[in-house]
Amino acid sequence: MGKILDGKSLANLRAQKLKKEVEILKQDGINPLFCVINIGDDPASKVYVKTKKRRAQEMGIEQKIYQLPSTESEESVLNLIDKLNQDPSVHGIMVQMPTPEQINVNHLLERIDPEKDVDGLTPTNIGHLWQSDHFVEPATAIGIMKLLEHYKINVAGKNVAIIGRSNIVGKPLAALMLEKDASVSVLHSKTKSLSTYTRMADIIIVAAGQENLLTSEMVKKGAVVIDVGINRVEGHLVGDVDFKQVLSKARWITPVPGGVGPLTVELLMEQVVKLTRRAHGIK
Ligand code: NAD
Repeated sequence: MGKILDGKSLANLRAQKLKKEVEILKQDGINPLFCVINIGDDPASKVYVKTKKRRAQEMGIEQKIYQLPSTESEESVLNLIDKLNQDPSVHGIMVQMPTPEQINVNHLLERIDPEKDVDGLTPTNIGHLWQSDHFVEPATAIGIMKLLEHYKINVAGKNVAIIGRSNIVGKPLAALMLEKDASVSVLHSKTKSLSTYTRMADIIIVAAGQENLLTSEMVKKGAVVIDVGINRVEGHLVGDVDFKQVLSKARWITPVPGGVGPLTVELLMEQVVKLTRRAHGIK
């Protein structure tokens, strides 16, 4: 029977430390400020924005939400980003995805000052990531690395299979895993046989957004399984892993909810504080 990788508890543990750090900054007159740009009415985005706001409040981090209509032009969002880039009281900027059709999200990301890029998604910071010389990383990917580290799961020399090649999870996670000397396979919807790779893997990360995608036949006994997926099924949240079946085969497994999700939010808050410190020249 596998053991649970408790992301929620780790996030709460890290949050206690972060809260103290924020208090110290505030005593020195420094107020971390995090700006979120949400364009349109995507219901999931609204939930994520609300979750971040609540967490920021708990941490003592000020958060401003720019809720823009779904018809907003790209130019007007770029102007807003320029304004936030220039404002010294702003330490972090993120654009909530997805964005409406008329907006090319890459244009927005290119415009964010890399020193205010809490999500680590600007081309500059992605470049730094692949050069193994980075100060900010996409939150979900770095959260997964922190979770493995916390449970002393070493990735060096391990076979790692990542299902999903998104810019926010799969690709940055591949870079972080390579940096720690793992051998990485990045799998996706055009991969011919997922199980050819997953059965060889010591660590499997699933970030596809498809319920029950990873079944127990696809998992080697004793593997570590990280479920990033969030799927709403009959009012409940489930991941991409057939949790019950895989639990009996894996050595370690993350639950959904309570696994990767809370760490993503926590790491985002940590990056706001990190960028605040950098902006003020504090190590
Ligand atoms: P995405 O939605 O942009 O893309 C999905 C990826 O999965 C693609 O690379 C696609 O090729 C691959 N894929 C889809 N179906 C597949 C299949 N049947 N076989 C193999 N590969 C398949 O990816 P995303 O934005 O990284 O999101 C993935 C999932 O993770 C979603 O459920 C999302 O809600 C969730 N997510 C969770 C967190 C968190 O903090 N827990 C953070 C980000 C994303």
